[in-house]
Amino acid sequence: MNTPVANPQELVRILVVDDHPNTATTLARALAQIGPTVDVVSAVSGTDALEKVKNVGVDILFTDMIMPEMTGLELIEKMQNHPGGKPAYAYLITAYDVPGLKVTAQRLKVNDVIIKPVRPEKICQIATHAIDEMKHASHPAGKKDAAKRKFKILVADDVMDNVTLLTRYLEYEGYDQVTARDGQEAINKIRDEAPDLILLDVNMPNKDGFTVLEEVRADPAIAHIPVIILTAARLDPADVQSGLNLGADDYVTKPFDRHELMARIRTKLRVKEAEDITRRRNRELNLLPEIGKQLSARLDTKDLANVLLKRTAETLGAIQANMYILDENEKEVRERYEVVLNPSGVIEDLTPPAKLIQHIQETHQGLVIEDAVNDPLWRVDVRIYIRSALIVPIFGRYSLLGLILLTHEQESYFTSDHLLLLQAIASQAAIAIENARLYSVVLQEQKKVAAILRHASEAILLFDEQRNLTLLNPAGEQLFLARPVKLSQPLPADRGYEGLLKLINDARSANMSISGDILWPDQRTFTAFVAPIEEGGTVAILHDVSRFKDLDQVKNEFIATASHDLKNPLTSIGGYAQLMGQAGPLNDNQKDFVERIQHSVKSMSELVQNMMSLAQADLNATQKHEPVDIKQVLGEVTNEFAPQAKEKGQSLEVSSPDKTIKVNGDALHLRQAFRNLIGNAIKYTPKGGNIHINSISESEKIVIHVEDNGFGIPAADLPFIFNRFYRVRTGKASEIEGNGLGLAIVKSIIAEHGGIVNVESEIGKGTCFSISLPVLNRNN
Ligand code: ADP
Repeated sequence: MNTPVANPQELVRILVVDDHPNTATTLARALAQIGPTVDVVSAVSGTDALEKVKNVGVDILFTDMIMPEMTGLELIEKMQNHPGGKPAYAYLITAYDVPGLKVTAQRLKVNDVIIKPVRPEKICQIATHAIDEMKHASHPAGKKDAAKRKFKILVADDVMDNVTLLTRYLEYEGYDQVTARDGQEAINKIRDEAPDLILLDVNMPNKDGFTVLEEVRADPAIAHIPVIILTAARLDPADVQSGLNLGADDYVTKPFDRHELMARIRTKLRVKEAEDITRRRNRELNLLPEIGKQLSARLDTKDLANVLLKRTAETLGAIQANMYILDENEKEVRERYEVVLNPSGVIEDLTPPAKLIQHIQETHQGLVIEDAVNDPLWRVDVRIYIRSALIVPIFGRYSLLGLILLTHEQESYFTSDHLLLLQAIASQAAIAIENARLYSVVLQEQKKVAAILRHASEAILLFDEQRNLTLLNPAGEQLFLARPVKLSQPLPADRGYEGLLKLINDARSANMSISGDILWPDQRTFTAFVAPIEEGGTVAILHDVSRFKDLDQVKNEFIATASHDLKNPLTSIGGYAQLMGQAGPLNDNQKDFVERIQHSVKSMSELVQNMMSLAQADLNATQKHEPVDIKQVLGEVTNEFAPQAKEKGQSLEVSSPDKTIKVNGDALHLRQAFRNLIGNAIKYTPKGGNIHINSISESEKIVIHVEDNGFGIPAADLPFIFNRFYRVRTGKASEIEGNGLGLAIVKSIIAEHGGIVNVESEIGKGTCFSISLPVLNRNN
């Protein structure tokens, strides 16, 4: 009769049968007080009872045992075959506990045998409890609760009879029990089995009840379990007091009344259940900040999935937790992680179906699946143990990243509170997953960069804003083998790194990348490419060009020697061509030929002279280092060209600062440079034009402008005019003779003096070359 059938929405029908009419009506009246949900019928005999409930079933039956015609047990047996269904609860009331009665009652699944005299309150109490149980059993949430709350009670008593009796009572009430025969066994079982309640005898071997109680209350893992002390009646009241002081929840004196004990147990369990819920809620509330902390410390998706799933499953009581990471299309599962907490450890393959993923994408919501076997969105195989589930999306900033799934073996296990909590956890997971992804992208990039740095044959050096060396690739380390340098420190300026340091400074102050050849302390030559970087530092890439420098040297030496050797025969040809006229009269044709020879000799001599100058400048061979008065050089060269300018009707003016300005260098070379610039200005300016040489002294340099209002240079040619043998091939300039070496020589000489040449020009308007040279320190 333990199968309750009543529907809470319907009336609970109670039948009271007693051959003593007064008793029957008194009890019926008391039961009717329970409330409007009960319908009480009373009868004075079994026959009367059967007649009264002929058409309807009865939920709870109270019947007297000894009655004429039909005993209580006979009535119970008959009611069990009643067409309206058997009673959910049946109770037998008897004046004498006759031998064998209980056994028969038990066989007929009688819920309890009540010994007279019966007080109406007691009957009401029993009925209320039965009604409660029926409600729990038929309500879906209640069913889950009833199943979940099969309370476990530990009975610790050294007297075998007591243990047997108590366990039978408890079994009757539907509790699980654990027994212990002494104090030590009791404490061990409390720790191992974590019962919901402890019935503790005081006098036990090994450890008495008080010691056990003390140990229970001292251990945080079990301290919350309620303890009811069972004492002998003759116990000293002082002992009772000390037991209560130790934290006993209640006292029951032997021999105890069974119903009283059960009522007390129920009360304690109800309190414990409420406390358990609070404890669980607290754990759930703590879960969120705790997971947040754990996740922020992790940058590996697998790692963070494990932590999140384990903690969440433990706290929410799930038996399996899964995380699915979707691919970019948000359709296919790309990675999956799972944590299994069910005791069998069996992992269920639970990939959520596309239909469910689509549903979540559309609704942006998680959902509670109450009945996983029959849910239209997700039907699990009946053969697996999963019966309910909780599933929430992990939404990243732009897309659905994945899903978290928790499962349970009971139907309707998860609540909407669980859903809210898991959704909050999922949003933390989203942030953590996106961080982890970003981190792995950065890591990949870093690896690539590291590989490039490692394998580059060029030396790569990184300097911070304060010009400290912060990074060196292996090729870079090779540069400092002989004289190691420390990272996070600047390169020592006195060790021969001036060239590089100057390039770095220039690149930083110009805020653009520049390149140049530098001489390393070990006499190797490097082409250095130096660029400022966004973060405020500078990167320098050094390429060893020592070999090319050597080749260049050979080439320049060859040109210098060859041009020198060519000069003598050219002088002879020129000389003899001039003597031809003196040797005898020449006819017109012969005169023309001789002039052509002389013109060619002149061009060729110029070319040879230019090539020689260039080679010598490159070789750095003849350069002197002495103070040169720039004003004087400019005056001399201008005077040299005055006749030529005059011949073309051009004005040629020099304006210079009053004071003497000296540069450190080679006067011959500098004269050559200005000669080329002023010569060009005259050459590429039409008759009657103006040429103006203007020098301006600045703090550490002098800037000389050679300006004309001649043909100008096309913008397309400007970048190339300093290249060797480059000539403008369009417009008026192309009609003028030249060999394209003049400006290359200028550039080379000025560079040799630590200066720079610039040009600005506009077609038809004129050209201005600017030369800036470092001036000699006054002290020098
Ligand atoms: P070139 O022997 O041809 O003069 P340069 O190296 O001196 O060789 O000059 C290169 C080219 O630059 C010339 O061919 C000419 O077209 C152009 N150029 C140089 N100076 C001037 C100038 N002052 N005005 C116009 N064009 C010039």
